[in-house]
Amino acid sequence: MDKISQDLARAAAATVPGRAGFDYLIVGAGFAGSVLAERLANVMGKRVLIVDKRPHIGGNAYDRYDDHGVLIHPYGPHIFHTNSEDIFQYLSQFTEWRPYQHRVLASVDGQLVPMPINLDTINKLYGLSLTSFEVEKFFESVAEKKEEIRTSEDVVVSKVGRELYNKFFRGYTRKQWDLDPSELDASVTARVPTRTNRDDRYFADKFQAMPRHGYTRMFERMLDHPNIKVMTNTDYREIVDVVPWTHMIYSGPIDAYFDCKYGKLPYRSLRFEHVNVPQEQFQPVGTVNYPNDYGYTRISEFKHITGQKHPTTSVVYEYPCAEGDPYYPVPQPQNAQLYKRYEAEAEATPNVTFVGRLATYRYYNMDQVVGQALATFKRLQQAECERAEAGLNLSAAPVGR
Ligand code: FAD
Ligand code: UDP
Repeated sequence: MDKISQDLARAAAATVPGRAGFDYLIVGAGFAGSVLAERLANVMGKRVLIVDKRPHIGGNAYDRYDDHGVLIHPYGPHIFHTNSEDIFQYLSQFTEWRPYQHRVLASVDGQLVPMPINLDTINKLYGLSLTSFEVEKFFESVAEKKEEIRTSEDVVVSKVGRELYNKFFRGYTRKQWDLDPSELDASVTARVPTRTNRDDRYFADKFQAMPRHGYTRMFERMLDHPNIKVMTNTDYREIVDVVPWTHMIYSGPIDAYFDCKYGKLPYRSLRFEHVNVPQEQFQPVGTVNYPNDYGYTRISEFKHITGQKHPTTSVVYEYPCAEGDPYYPVPQPQNAQLYKRYEAEAEATPNVTFVGRLATYRYYNMDQVVGQALATFKRLQQAECERAEAGLNLSAAPVGR
């Protein structure tokens, strides 16, 4: 046993006199893992060890100050939005908020125009002054009739026709996924609406805000509990057999957990290029999309998003790629089928619960992951009640893996 493992084993034994080990080993300190750690410790008094192989907590939502003192999101821009009051209230225990509505422009035909496509997009692009009613008629005249909306191409051409599809969606999607929209599930481009009014917000959710002191501070407050031990820079495989635990929550890629026994599940990756620019503002809005030019899909400027005042500014370019950290599950029927095989395997694995974007292979936003984690917590709590009623005590016998 190495030094870290010895320390941990001692910490586990010392947490509560007379009870050895952790009740829960949580793999991944992103939203999925951190929400569960917080609930299990605060509501059920469980002893939790949460490990992450990265050198920090927060998962992909982690933020930090760069060398120039600008607050950045190392894993790309993260904007919080939800329609769920419950999810917003839950997170509000750990942060104050700064209201923020994200705006995106697309660079098309040499102009910057609002994205999602709205009335102003069409008027600016074509030098027109249509009304909402007229633009609705325009969309109807160019839309292609589809019997069934199956792919990401169908979603867009059935609403705004092929020309706008080519200008705004086809190139971006091919860059982002290395797939044609006709090869991707409808759900991908359906994330982006089409509007006939002048609403130029990227999201239409009821709650749209940024954690006032950043995501990392919010995660620190979630995990600040005497029953929660946090271990970063640690792959769970380094400690899983040496630290006693009873139940595992796993939020890493599901195929990796099962050593890719049925084959690798595709995940799309990104290379982030962070740049500090010695001027106060770089671009007019938080994100500018480049559907047709360059190797990157978008540039985001953090100060718009965080509200920070600073004489310089930091931006991130996103270059999609195949290799690297897994960021996006790839929504295609054959991948959903392969995932089902892993899911069946997961369901047959006692003492391990799979939760989060990578572990359930779902293209989830942050709020959806929080919702999934809260629902998972309820199920775990319910299962414990049922076990207690049946006279079994989960804490009695740590079993390891
Ligand atoms: P993650 O945050 O990925 O956390 C999983 C953690 O598990 C990781 O930290 C990883 O290091 C760790 N891990 C994996 N394997 C192991 C192992 N073997 N041992 C130890 N640790 C391990 N959502 C929004 O709502 N709004 C946005 O604006 C938004 N923007 C995004 C932009 C980009 C570029 C990306 C990629 C995502 C964006 N998202 C956004 C989605 C958001 O990032 C996710 O919904 C959320 O972070 C998922 O949380 P999670 O806990 O499931 O996964
Ligand atoms: N999309 C596009 N053009 C755009 C913006 C989005 O074609 O200007 C498509 C693309 O396929 C993208 C998907 O819509 O992957 C979802 O966009 P979103 O902005 O939600 O992506 P995310 O922020 O999750 O990367």
